[in-house]
Amino acid sequence: MSTATAQDRVLSTLNADGTRRWLRPKPAPGRFLNARRAVGYALIAIFVSLPHLRIAGKPPLLLDIAAREFTFFGTTLYPTDTLLLALLMLSVFLSIFFLTALFGRVWCGWACPQTVYLELVYRPIERLLEGMPGRKAKKGAWRKPLRFVIYLVLSFGLANTFLAYFVGTDRLSQWVLHSPTEHWGAFLLVVAVTGLMMFDFGFFREQLCIVACPYGRFQSVMLDRNSLIISYDPNRGEPRGKKKRKPKQDVALPVVNEEPQGDCIDCHMCVTTCPTGIDIRDGLQLECVNCAQCIDACDTIMDKIGKPRGLIRYGSQATVLDQAKQRFIRPRTIIYPTLILGLVTAFTILLATRQPAFVNVLRGPGAPFTIVESMVVNPAVIKVQNRAPEPVTYSFDIVNAQGEIFVPTGAVVVAPGETVETQVQIRVVAETFAQSPDSKFQAQVRVQGDDGFEKVVEHRLLGPANGVMDP
Ligand code: SF4
Ligand code: SF4
Repeated sequence: MSTATAQDRVLSTLNADGTRRWLRPKPAPGRFLNARRAVGYALIAIFVSLPHLRIAGKPPLLLDIAAREFTFFGTTLYPTDTLLLALLMLSVFLSIFFLTALFGRVWCGWACPQTVYLELVYRPIERLLEGMPGRKAKKGAWRKPLRFVIYLVLSFGLANTFLAYFVGTDRLSQWVLHSPTEHWGAFLLVVAVTGLMMFDFGFFREQLCIVACPYGRFQSVMLDRNSLIISYDPNRGEPRGKKKRKPKQDVALPVVNEEPQGDCIDCHMCVTTCPTGIDIRDGLQLECVNCAQCIDACDTIMDKIGKPRGLIRYGSQATVLDQAKQRFIRPRTIIYPTLILGLVTAFTILLATRQPAFVNVLRGPGAPFTIVESMVVNPAVIKVQNRAPEPVTYSFDIVNAQGEIFVPTGAVVVAPGETVETQVQIRVVAETFAQSPDSKFQAQVRVQGDDGFEKVVEHRLLGPANGVMDP
């Protein structure tokens, strides 16, 4: 069987024969690594603690997909808040575009949970147990199994924290404290998410950023030549090459055609530290997650050879490659914030004027109408969603006709965030239809809450044509 090999590098995580190229990046100590550690561990602390905090009785961030409730710092949006949700999502997406246009993939390198957990938790454990890349591996067959046991415990904790954002810590603790036989679905969900974390952080790793993450794939359209990225300065670094030793003073060697040499000494430190296995000197690449590891690595080398730092640095293509002036004002840095401002303003106004309850009146099951003691009775269902933070008692009546709304179940009390559907009978006098040859009457149903809420909803009633009842 013949083995096909690629002529050029296809992916930084693949060998020429298509097998996995395992990356073991060597950490490069420096100011950016220190800063990323501080930011990363602070983010982990926030990520872990946020589901346990409460604002107005709810977690600050809860995306309860099953209940279709989305809570953001004390405000809960329901499926009936479609416009608010759409405005929020659009604002988030445009903010990401704007941030990327200005600062490139700063999110990937500094705040993405994938990078933060992989580079600051999982890989350091591997290095601690099995040794530093480039050095002799630590002895002991138990090291690798132990690493995976630690990974499993970590992944289980991480999976639970992740799920807490979708089901809340109250429900999650019920799952954890009770036997799996009481909730097989939930148990399997936790197992599946834990398995996915193990697969990602133990095996798939940087490939998630390189081949799976849609944000990475969209870079080419979100960046322009003035976006801040991590760049190698070829004007200063090239032609690269090992530094030639200075000849001893007393040995006179003829210098024949000696080419000027750039600052890059081709030490490959920027490559061995790269968590996605690329060479930043090849220019802007999709695989670069802007982690700044190569800056620290190269700065250390520059210090050692007595050259100024910044051969690899934060800089736009315009400033580093074209040696042009940085332009902050560009079409996309004007259009994005303008759109975001418009969306946020619309969102704020809609949220501020949002009513504390959502009401809908629907036709009830059964006969369209019945006549009971000279009254025309229409079955109806009144749906009330309480968006207020307290339980509210609601009452119903008819505004534009003589009659009443009879609630067989008595008082309608709705807990915060809950939706209650109540079957009622709308009873009106037959004269209501006196002017209705088509047997229809547009009634106004009023819903009042004991918190001061009031809303009038239009609802079509059916009855005898012209109000004439059969003898
Ligand atoms: S670390 Fe700096 S000097 Fe070394 S290869 Fe990379 S760019 Fe060149
Ligand atoms: S090229 Fe540099 S900034 Fe980009 S991923 Fe590699 S080390 Fe990080």
